[in-house]
Amino acid sequence: MKYIGAHVSAAGGVFNAPVNAAAIGASAFALFTKNQKRWHASALTEKVIEQFKVNCQQYNYTASQILPHDSYLINLGHPETEKLEKSRAAFCDEMLRCEQLGLCYLNFHPGSHLKQLSENDCLARVAESINMALECSNSVTAVIENTAGQGTNLGYRFEHLAQIIAQVEDKSRIGVCLDTCHTFVSGYDLRTSGECEATFAEFNKVVGFKYLKGMHLNDSKTKYGSKIDRHAPLGAGEIGWECFKYIMIDSRFDNIPLILETTDSQLWPQEIAALKEFVKEAK
Ligand SMILES: [Zn+2]
Ligand SMILES: [Zn+2]
Repeated sequence: MKYIGAHVSAAGGVFNAPVNAAAIGASAFALFTKNQKRWHASALTEKVIEQFKVNCQQYNYTASQILPHDSYLINLGHPETEKLEKSRAAFCDEMLRCEQLGLCYLNFHPGSHLKQLSENDCLARVAESINMALECSNSVTAVIENTAGQGTNLGYRFEHLAQIIAQVEDKSRIGVCLDTCHTFVSGYDLRTSGECEATFAEFNKVVGFKYLKGMHLNDSKTKYGSKIDRHAPLGAGEIGWECFKYIMIDSRFDNIPLILETTDSQLWPQEIAALKEFVKEAK
């Protein structure tokens, strides 16, 4: 099965996310379980948790179709102790929120060295943060997203993801999410099915498809290798439709959330319908 959706709004309460996802014809969705621009969040109440679960059931979303994303403030590789500790505490809290909601993943960007740590030291710090988060929670899998490589963000090479995974103790609870825009602008081509074949073969060699727990489907406003992260609607950027068709007909992308983070949410119903059409045509 292909689970296709978008990062939907959870405004008014997390229980609104599955309703918003169903309204655009999605069979997967992503959400923030708290305000992503703030450190603090009040605890989820029993009532909110129950309503979220009821709504997911009503619209047929199981945990494997849902990819929650953590706050943008968190930097699990922060060079300064105090700020690192704040990030680790916030991340642990997010892991526990996901568990309370019955979810199985938490998607996050690895971290930034802020020019104060070497790449290797920062990646080791990220891995240590993940070990602590897995320790503080019971069941959620930490899903590292590859990045565009903007500024001092790490995770723009498949080797970075592999290096983090190698230092995570519990390999059963670590995974990765590939963002097509980030992959492309960080220097892995996706413009033709041949380039997709080569890029995903490289991913399989360096990281391994067994770790792939989700995808972000975004076209790119900026050029190949630019390291600048600007999402575009599918087919309206530098990548083009062929890549998204390739993903839809390849079984290695089955049974994981495939999430649009494209810039025009008005287009999501059309984009989802177009992706589903590729799946149908392939059968
Ligand atoms: Zn993304
Ligand atoms: Zn992005």
